[in-house]
Amino acid sequence: MRKACAIISVVAGLAAIFVADAAAQTAPVQSAKETRSMAKQSSSTPGLAELNRMEARFAPTPMKVDLSSLSASDRKALAKLVEAARVIDFVFMDQYWSGDRALWAKLKRDRTPLGVARASYFWLNKSPWSSLDGEKAFLPGVPPTKLPGANFYPEDMTKPEFEGWLAKQSPEDQKLATGFFSVIWRNTAPGDMHLVMVPYSKAYAKDLQTAAGLLREAAALTGNATLKRFLTARADAFLNDDYYASDVAWMDLDAPIDVTIGPYETYNDEVFGYKASFEAYVNVRDDRETAKLGAFSKHLQEIEDNLPIDAKYRNPKLGAAAPIRVVNEVFGAGDGDHGVQTAAYNLPNDERITTERGTKRVMLRNVQEAKFNANLVPIAGSVLAPDERRELSFDWFFTHILAHELSHGLGPHQITLNGQSTSPREQLKELYSAIEEAKADALGLFALQYMLDHETQMALDGVLPKDKKDVAERKLYTTYLASSFRTLRFGLHEAHGRGMALQVNYLMDKGAFTVGKDGRFSVDYAKVKDAVRDLVHDLLMLEATGDYAGTKKLLDTAVLRPEFKRALDKLTAVPTDIRPVFVTAQELTEKK
Ligand code: ZN
Repeated sequence: MRKACAIISVVAGLAAIFVADAAAQTAPVQSAKETRSMAKQSSSTPGLAELNRMEARFAPTPMKVDLSSLSASDRKALAKLVEAARVIDFVFMDQYWSGDRALWAKLKRDRTPLGVARASYFWLNKSPWSSLDGEKAFLPGVPPTKLPGANFYPEDMTKPEFEGWLAKQSPEDQKLATGFFSVIWRNTAPGDMHLVMVPYSKAYAKDLQTAAGLLREAAALTGNATLKRFLTARADAFLNDDYYASDVAWMDLDAPIDVTIGPYETYNDEVFGYKASFEAYVNVRDDRETAKLGAFSKHLQEIEDNLPIDAKYRNPKLGAAAPIRVVNEVFGAGDGDHGVQTAAYNLPNDERITTERGTKRVMLRNVQEAKFNANLVPIAGSVLAPDERRELSFDWFFTHILAHELSHGLGPHQITLNGQSTSPREQLKELYSAIEEAKADALGLFALQYMLDHETQMALDGVLPKDKKDVAERKLYTTYLASSFRTLRFGLHEAHGRGMALQVNYLMDKGAFTVGKDGRFSVDYAKVKDAVRDLVHDLLMLEATGDYAGTKKLLDTAVLRPEFKRALDKLTAVPTDIRPVFVTAQELTEKK
């Protein structure tokens, strides 16, 4: 869910800041009241049966990755990177809560059934708070929820105290204090409890030195120059807090081993949104899917030229698309492995680089596949009419995700209103994300249908899964229908959910989707193509004309209708997410 899409990441980040802003300005950023209420809270912590139920929402999934394409020395480098990522787990825990690492050490020693269940669920969340339950504590003797400022600020610090202290710092220190890579501590000398800024390289010195050493060992092992450059630069950054050069090297990284390691997202700092949490994704590039993406990209201009809107709204020359890498995850750590699993991410966040170079999107194909098997297969079993279920296809599911991502780059981006140059984002304001997500979904279907209709050339390019056209269409639309329930299940409070409700209601009204007396859903293949085309037209025209009122009117239809609610209510036993078991990483690091 997190980082499900570039747009969503931004919105979620802002939402977190707004929530924090709404809190009383003068209250300590991590209320001491919370600490005092710990004892009371302990009586209501879940027992063994309840913990098992909570954990069962995550289907355990072995992450087995084929390493046969890697050279022997790259395999050794990969093992070093897994070891470095394991260190990152503990840096992240130090960032998340001051008591996190000590509590983990204690939990591991408890071999009673309750102790084992607690340790297991703790490791899944990397904390004593359950991410699927609003970060509520599931262990006794800890704050009742995650602290808003995590461990980035002293627990008793107030916002005015921070702001007053900040005003007295030099401009350079102000930049560092509000930057990604420092924590704020309190001086412990009695009578002089002022705030101090500590750079990450000092705050986590021992672990970051270990991790940097492992990155250098991996750099020495790999034969790939771009990987060597990234790992060396990132090891330097761990020790000097200057991440710019290594972020640039990461943008240029093009290697069989695709690794992301370092401090990135700021969601866990719910007070100011300044501080970056450490995470790691150790991946192997998926060459087949990456080639598919490259071939797909070659046809984007042709699809733009055939969008179902007046030619004057089409873009005669698309800009270069942001780079996308398809990878398989061997190991995830820290902020990249707690609670709901990341299936794709867009980085870096440093504005100097995003302005100069844009961002790179990394899609974790095997994580998507694991989620598909754990969630979508049982969802389809429940919501689809029996003879539709056999059409469910991961290949088409993933191809549609790729088409969705590429579709964000299609359609109107710069528009002219009353002689002024503007953008759909500026005009549609807070409604933009939901409409843009719906556009990318529907346009993704439209683009794939276009390719199926002009099959010869594109099939030769190997863009589409190898199915006959009628089989391909059935798989595409049925898989899309089933996946809409997966999105709706996460709720209509965010852009993807609202955008999805809009789409399914529109397609139901056009007769493209139907529901039987048994409450199960089907696709009307005779109607679905025209309906999707109409939907794409309507969504693109709202963006092309910057029509805020029209967008509002359409989004007002984005409600969960009773037939969908009834279907969703039956899905309580379907796991919400997966729990990855990193078997390949385990084998790789045990062998030596
Ligand atoms: Zn999207």
